[in-house]
Amino acid sequence: MRKKLVVGNWKMNGSRAVNAQLLAGFKDSGPWNADVVVCVPFPYIAETALALTGSATAYGAQDCSAHEQGAFTGEVSSTMLADVGCRYVIVGHSERRAYHAESDQLVADKAKAALAHGVTPIVCVGETRSEREAGQTESVVKRQLAAVIHTLGHCCGEIVVAYEPVWAIGTGLTATPEQAQAVHAVLRAQLHAATDRASSMRILYGGSVKAENAAELFSQADIDGGLIGGASLKVGDFAAICLAAAH
Ligand code: PEP
Repeated sequence: MRKKLVVGNWKMNGSRAVNAQLLAGFKDSGPWNADVVVCVPFPYIAETALALTGSATAYGAQDCSAHEQGAFTGEVSSTMLADVGCRYVIVGHSERRAYHAESDQLVADKAKAALAHGVTPIVCVGETRSEREAGQTESVVKRQLAAVIHTLGHCCGEIVVAYEPVWAIGTGLTATPEQAQAVHAVLRAQLHAATDRASSMRILYGGSVKAENAAELFSQADIDGGLIGGASLKVGDFAAICLAAAH
C-alpha cells in the first residue's frame, strides 16, 4: 500500500506576510494521514522551514540546477537545497519545459543532480492539448520518462513521478479519473520494466485538482496523490485535498 503524497506548488506567488498566514493556517489544519510537501519560491525556503518547525509537512523547491556549483549565474544547486533542508524538488514542470526550453535530457540531469544530494526529484511529464488530440499522449509521456530512466539507471526507483497534462494546468480543465488512471498505468508499466521498485513508487496527478475532484482522482489504482498549483495557495482548499488523500 503506497502512502499518498500531496505536493503544493506555489509557483511564483507569495510574499513574506501572505506566506506566514498560509503556513500558520495550514500547520493548524494538519496532521493528515498522507505525506504533504510545499514547494515554495527559493527566497522563502528558509522562512518556510522555520514556519513548519514541529510540523510533519516537508518543504521543497520548484527547480534546481543540473550543475554542482560554479559559474552558473542565477541557478540554485541541489546541494544548496539539501543544505537548507529541502527534501523534494520539482523538475521538468511544463512551465519550465515551455518557457525555458528545458529538454527531456536536461530534466533528467536535474533529477540526477537532486538524487545525488538526497533530494527527491518530482519529475513532471505530460502532453499538450494538441499532442493529446493527435493521439500522442502515451508516446510523449513515455519519451519524457524514458530520458529520466536512462539517465538514472537503477536509481530511478527513488523518484516521484507527476503526470500533469499541460492542457489541465491552471485551466480549470481536469483529466477525468479514467483518463488520468490510463496514463498512470502506462507510466507504472514503464517503471516496472526499469526497476523492481515500481510498485512502491508514487505517481502523482496534477492539473486543476480541487477539493471537489481530489477524492475521486486519488481513488484510482495508480494515482498516489497530487501535485497542486492554484489550490495550494488557499489553506482551506489545500487542507481539504490533503484530507481527501488521507482516505
Ligand atoms: C501545477 O502547477 O503543477 C498545477 C497542477 O497547477 P494547477 O493545480 O493550478 O492546475
